Amino acid sequence: AGTIRADIALIGLAVMGQNLIMNMNDHGFVVCAYNRTVSKVHDFLQNEAKGSKVIGAESLEDMVAKLKKPRRIILLVKAGQAVDDFIDKLVPLLEPGDIIIDGGNSEYRDTTRRCKSLKEKNLLFVGSGVSGGEEGARYGPSLMPGGHKEAWPHIKDIFQSIAAKVGTGEPCCDWVSLALLADELYTIILSCVVPVSYIVLSQMLLNVLLQVGDEGAGHFVKMVHNGIEYGDMQLICEAYHLMKDVLGMEHDEMAQAFDSWNKTELDSFLIEITANILKYRDTDGTHLLPKIRDSAGQKGTGKWTAISALEYGTPVTLIGEAVFARCLSSLKDERVEASGSLSGPQGVQFSGNKAAFLEDIRKALYASKIISYAQGFMLLRQAAKEFGWSLNYGAIALMWRGGCIIRSVFLGKIKEAFDRDSELQNLLLDSFFSNAVQDCQESWRRTVSTGVQHGIPMPCFTTALSFYDGYRHEKLPANLLQAQRDYFGAHTYELLSNPGHFIHTNWTGHG
Ligand code: NAP
Repeated sequence: AGTIRADIALIGLAVMGQNLIMNMNDHGFVVCAYNRTVSKVHDFLQNEAKGSKVIGAESLEDMVAKLKKPRRIILLVKAGQAVDDFIDKLVPLLEPGDIIIDGGNSEYRDTTRRCKSLKEKNLLFVGSGVSGGEEGARYGPSLMPGGHKEAWPHIKDIFQSIAAKVGTGEPCCDWVSLALLADELYTIILSCVVPVSYIVLSQMLLNVLLQVGDEGAGHFVKMVHNGIEYGDMQLICEAYHLMKDVLGMEHDEMAQAFDSWNKTELDSFLIEITANILKYRDTDGTHLLPKIRDSAGQKGTGKWTAISALEYGTPVTLIGEAVFARCLSSLKDERVEASGSLSGPQGVQFSGNKAAFLEDIRKALYASKIISYAQGFMLLRQAAKEFGWSLNYGAIALMWRGGCIIRSVFLGKIKEAFDRDSELQNLLLDSFFSNAVQDCQESWRRTVSTGVQHGIPMPCFTTALSFYDGYRHEKLPANLLQAQRDYFGAHTYELLSNPGHFIHTNWTGHG
């Protein structure tokens, strides 16, 4: 056994770890499995991994001894303390240039901290978002790695082999940032072949000079992905609510609508499973969906995205509303009580053309989805600015194109938009998306106004439309807001005719 040299080790034999190991095994890599509770290594080798090339380790020392150099070790353990505990135990066993990869749902700030501390020890650290759950881990996840870029050439082959593939076999995995290694930059300057624009190049140069790494970028990208997932799910729920309560559609009819929507621009995993859920019948032959308690749970990654949005002052309103919609849904008992005393529109009947309104809802969903992704990419841009990352936006869209919960044809369009212009300020400014929104606009407004008249809550449809209207307005009423601030707090304001110059007015004329 002393001669066995594993390509990579994976620590953490829960559902994600086991599936990712079997995926790597299928792609020809020899994986060494380890777990805090060592008996799980034995169970795994005797069951799921039986007959495979997977080897096990009895201890971390044993695992390290079985690895080829530079050693590559993936952690897929519970996010938080468990990751730090394993890192602390691994550090004394590793050599300079060895690579630790955290594939769990770690908070990006923790990843940044770990990157910094391991750099001081000459070890490489990668924080990688892994999406797609159990199924993705087994057959092709979306992988979003960031951190010490020097690690990428050593893990690229494994990561891109096991990732989901789209189109003509493009992997849903790339380094999330464009930041170059000093020698890569040198090569570029030497050859005078500049594959990127001047602005991007100078940002990279600055990063290299300032020694700014990608640090928590991979986990930040994963966090935004999860936030977008919250938004996509809530948008679909709002469409379902309108179909059910405005149009009075039956479950099978709604399933049929989602099935047909899945053949349009909305073609995506979440639309597909929604159709299947609507069709699903319980053992008694009736539909299961209406029997499910309407109180949503959450694990927190959507909330983190909303918190980051507030922190960095980016109006990611749709994800925020999606998180709050779950919070409101969970007040089930209070809502049951309120439903007895708070009234809404009485006796409003839908009198229009049903098929036409169904198409309006579809377009409202599509337009709102465009807003949500535009906002998500705005947050990525802002974080990149804050932390000095040069994120590869097109690659990020491609990473989400397959393997994960938000996978969709739509993400291919986002990739194309960034291919057209890698510095695109906002998705809404790309011609494809501005035309798409334009095409949906009337339907979107009809959907929102009809829904409001019927008293249907549509927090995401409405916030998306408000954002759109706000973003496209040259003038907003914030002039009044500035005046109010100056009135009561002497916060000063600028005149349109003299920007950059702040003045105060004595509004009351007193003293
Ligand atoms: P999990 O339930 O989050 O974690 C279980 C694993 O962590 C076990 O190997 C366990 O070891 C180990 N562990 C827990 N506390 C520990 C501690 N204090 N010290 C050392 N080891 C500890 O497993 P999972 O659902 O497979 O997820 C793994 C990671 O992937 C998590 O960060 C999760 O958030 C992320 N993730 C999960 C999914 C999903 O669909 N489940 C999707 C994407 C990402 P023992 O066996 O010894 O208890």
